[in-house]
Amino acid sequence: MAKSWSDKEITSILSSREPRMLDELFDAADRCRRDSVGPNVFLRGLIEFSNECQRNCYYCGIRKGNLSIRRYRLTNYEIIALAMSAFEGGYSSLTLQSGESDETREINEVVHFVQVIKAQSQARDNTGQGLGITLSIGELTFDQYQALWEAGAHRYLLRIETSDRQLFSRIHPPGQYYDKRLHCLDALKTIGYQVGTGIMVGLPGQSIENLVRDLQFFVERDIDMLGIGPYIPHPNTPLYKQPAFDFDPFIMTLKIIALARLMMPDINIVCSTALQIINPRGLELGLKAGANIVMPVLTPEDNRGNYSLYINKNYTQPQELVDRIRMFGYEVDPWTWGDSRHYAARQAQE
Ligand code: SF4
Repeated sequence: MAKSWSDKEITSILSSREPRMLDELFDAADRCRRDSVGPNVFLRGLIEFSNECQRNCYYCGIRKGNLSIRRYRLTNYEIIALAMSAFEGGYSSLTLQSGESDETREINEVVHFVQVIKAQSQARDNTGQGLGITLSIGELTFDQYQALWEAGAHRYLLRIETSDRQLFSRIHPPGQYYDKRLHCLDALKTIGYQVGTGIMVGLPGQSIENLVRDLQFFVERDIDMLGIGPYIPHPNTPLYKQPAFDFDPFIMTLKIIALARLMMPDINIVCSTALQIINPRGLELGLKAGANIVMPVLTPEDNRGNYSLYINKNYTQPQELVDRIRMFGYEVDPWTWGDSRHYAARQAQE
């Protein structure tokens, strides 16, 4: 049973600028991670299959209102071929991500290619398990989530971005509702998904108090997976140039990952691409802070530049990532799904 943390304890760590405190925090998080989920890092090959989006989030580079990027959507054939080539290349899990659209025709397409990827990978797998599929395609209806679950997806990432209602409404346009996102997270859990959420760290107007609440929110929601990334301003968004956060978003993100590991020892935590972009030591320090999931980008090179949620997104070759992970003292187990242990424990209790 994990210790419960008071707001005061969390605030004291998040506010501290003491280097020694940071070292102690990372050491404690790394010990906790090795005791609870082990030294393995699990890979989720990331396929960003479309940058079309019906939303206009104020921080996001692929928002509908950004007319300066070329929109793309991979064909079903391309998505299935990419997925199967990832499977043949040693990936046992994928994350399929896109901008948001709840149009029936588009969701039916996703249902279709998830079914095909699942069936083809199961047919080529001695264990019959096939590829583990995580989806990250936004707010949908209960029935759409259900159809995707029945097609074979079993994990879903839907970031709340901030658990503070006022801040949420400052970074999203009218018509996007905090409560809708909560309802979606509830629906995913009811259906049976492993549910992941997360936040951006360093948003204009975000406070330490907000971040403390975010951590308590993850505990209260009993989440299975977490994705936390530093906010990277994008020039083609309304939030660009708004007054910056008072703290270094890189260090603050690492502190939040470490606290999340200590507060929720058996969840899966993603070492985000954004963390790896804003600092060359992002991968190493993210893992040391307690992250145990890495998502190498498998999107075709022609399309990568147009999936610019934030600027300066760059890419590391998968094998190079694996070599670096091993160099930092962690194991990579490509043949294991690496599902959230918290999810298994939660299922056993229900
Ligand atoms: S954050 Fe997601 S929903 Fe919002 S604009 Fe970007 S891709 Fe669309």
